Amino acid sequence: MTQSQAASAAPAMRVPLLDLKLQYRPLAAEIQVAIEQVCASQAFILGPAVKELETAVAAYSQCRFGIGVSSGTDALLLALMALEIGAGDAVITSPFTFFATAGTIARSGARPLFCDIDPATFNLAPAALERVIAAQCERRGAALVHRASGTHVKAVMPVHLYGQMADMVPLLACAQAAGLKVIEDAAQAIGAADSAGRRAGSVGDVGCLSFFPTKNLGAFGDAGMCVTGDAALAERLEILRVHGGKPKYYHALIGGNFRLDELQAAVLNIKLRFLDGWSAGRQRNAAFYDTAFAGARLGDAVRSPPAAPRGARHIYNQYVIRCGGRDALRAHLAAAGVGTEIYYPVPLHLQQCFAYLGHRAGEFPEAERAAAETLALPIYPELTEPQLRYVVDTIAAHYRG
Ligand SMILES: *Cc1c(COP(=O)(O)O)cnc(C)c1O
Repeated sequence: MTQSQAASAAPAMRVPLLDLKLQYRPLAAEIQVAIEQVCASQAFILGPAVKELETAVAAYSQCRFGIGVSSGTDALLLALMALEIGAGDAVITSPFTFFATAGTIARSGARPLFCDIDPATFNLAPAALERVIAAQCERRGAALVHRASGTHVKAVMPVHLYGQMADMVPLLACAQAAGLKVIEDAAQAIGAADSAGRRAGSVGDVGCLSFFPTKNLGAFGDAGMCVTGDAALAERLEILRVHGGKPKYYHALIGGNFRLDELQAAVLNIKLRFLDGWSAGRQRNAAFYDTAFAGARLGDAVRSPPAAPRGARHIYNQYVIRCGGRDALRAHLAAAGVGTEIYYPVPLHLQQCFAYLGHRAGEFPEAERAAAETLALPIYPELTEPQLRYVVDTIAAHYRG
């Protein structure tokens, strides 16, 4: 290959799926000071930074209580434990989500009971939830029993996927009618709101947040939080977070080590001040894509995510399109220097580890279609307009051949 050929093969621009260095640079000095303060104090466990973060994130999420934990996954597991969900129980959830949603249900000892998604939002469909309860479950005394497995259905775990809240009004009505607890997997949705202005995590019995680095509010490692308005539940969560000991070394409950590090909390306390600005930047970028894809006239080849309902707040943790020939488009984008990801390529009912649930392909058609058609594009707030334009132009060029 000649030098000019090599140059022409190199992408005109690079647009990574996410570049956290751009977010860190302007905050580096302030964060370094906060880290140094924790180091100087040598108080690493459940200290003042964790308390400050719990108060601030609870308020941000319109909840009275925040319980800082070691990850979003642990927030889900802790919530299940605090609600006394375990062996012999079942929890209804979406098959189209990150593994931890159903993984924690199974780890609690309960059975994940899948229910298909709404193709417009990728979130648990209220009509499908009603159908699962009506067709597969029956009342036996106070219990709602899943007929095929004999498990007691205790809760529903909707996921606010990609930063958009699930349709909580009908989901909540259905859960209440069936006597089910509601655990919100709000890992991707801190600060998202429904059209009534209610924030992710504040609608159900307990909300579970993740501060994994790629979430809108990301730590420098793993961290998470449970938020709730229920004082008794908050106390159980707090006790279970430290092995169930209260007072220390006296265990009425079996908990675990679910603690959030002081160092992570110190970083998050600083970053939380910028979260609204970052989420606004993501919304700006999403609006650019929406307009640009509409203008590119690609027909059905590329479908932008539908706009959030009036008054709702979508925080765009991901911007996910549906596209024809998804894997070829993804390869084309990679060759052109554009990073993408598939969230998620295998719906959970078809994962090998859940084979014991006995599901087959075709059982949850919307989840399966989403897994086959969707592609997440770069959406982080620091993207420039030329970069966004380049992503759209590269996609348009692919379909125009
Ligand atoms: C990220 C995520 C989790 C898990 O959070 P971690 O902090 O990575 O443990 C759970 N559910 C969903 C939907 C997520 O996106």
